[in-house]
Amino acid sequence: MITTASPKTSLPVPTDRRLEERSLRARTEAMSVLALGDGLYEVESESGNTYLIDLEAGRCTCPDHVFRNVRCKHIRRVAIEITAGRVPPLGQIAVECADCEESIFVDEDEEGPFYCERHRIYPGVTVRDRETNDRLTVVDVSDLRADYVRIPDASSTVAEYGTNEEYDPDTPVVGAVYPHATVGRNGVVPDSLKVYVFPRTRLERVTDAN
Ligand SMILES: [Zn+2]
Ligand SMILES: [Zn+2]
Repeated sequence: MITTASPKTSLPVPTDRRLEERSLRARTEAMSVLALGDGLYEVESESGNTYLIDLEAGRCTCPDHVFRNVRCKHIRRVAIEITAGRVPPLGQIAVECADCEESIFVDEDEEGPFYCERHRIYPGVTVRDRETNDRLTVVDVSDLRADYVRIPDASSTVAEYGTNEEYDPDTPVVGAVYPHATVGRNGVVPDSLKVYVFPRTRLERVTDAN
C-alpha cells in the first residue's frame, strides 16, 4: 500500500482576524503532512526538517515544542489540514487508488486494495477483464480472499487458477456474469448465466474515460 502526503505548500491567511505568531507561521510556511497511523503525523517543514507529531498527546519532536513546551506550528498545521479535509483524521491514513493513484482516506487497519469513487465496484457496474478484455457485470463483491475461495467444480482456489496466478493471492474476490445470455435453439444456455469468480485486481471498472 502506498501512503500519500499532502503537497508541500503554504496556506492563505484569513484577513478577518489577527493570528498569533505560531498560527500565522503554521499557515505561511510551506509544509507537507503525512498521516502515519496510530495517531502519528509526519511534517516536513519549510527548512526541510522532518518532525513527528503525536496528535492525541499534543507532542512534536521540534525544538519549539521539546524545549518551550508550546503548541508549535507543526501541531497547528496538522490540525488545520485535518479540518480542511486534506489530511486524514485520527484513525485514518491516505492511500492511493489501485487504479488511478488518486489519494483516498481509509481506516488504518482496513486491508487493501483500495479504490477511489470512480474505480470502486459494486453489483451492477460494468468491468473489464484485464486478461481477455471481455466486459462483465458485477453481481457480488466479497471480503473473502482469492487464496481462500475455491472455484466451483475445479480443484483449485481462485488464486491458483491458471490465468489468475499473476494477481495477488491476498486480493478479495468478485463474482461477475457475462452481460448477454447465450440463447440456443432450445432456449437460454444455462452455462451462459454462470457467475464467474475473479481476483478483484484482475477487473477494472469501465468508466466514461475508457
Ligand atoms: Zn513542532
Ligand atoms: Zn481511481
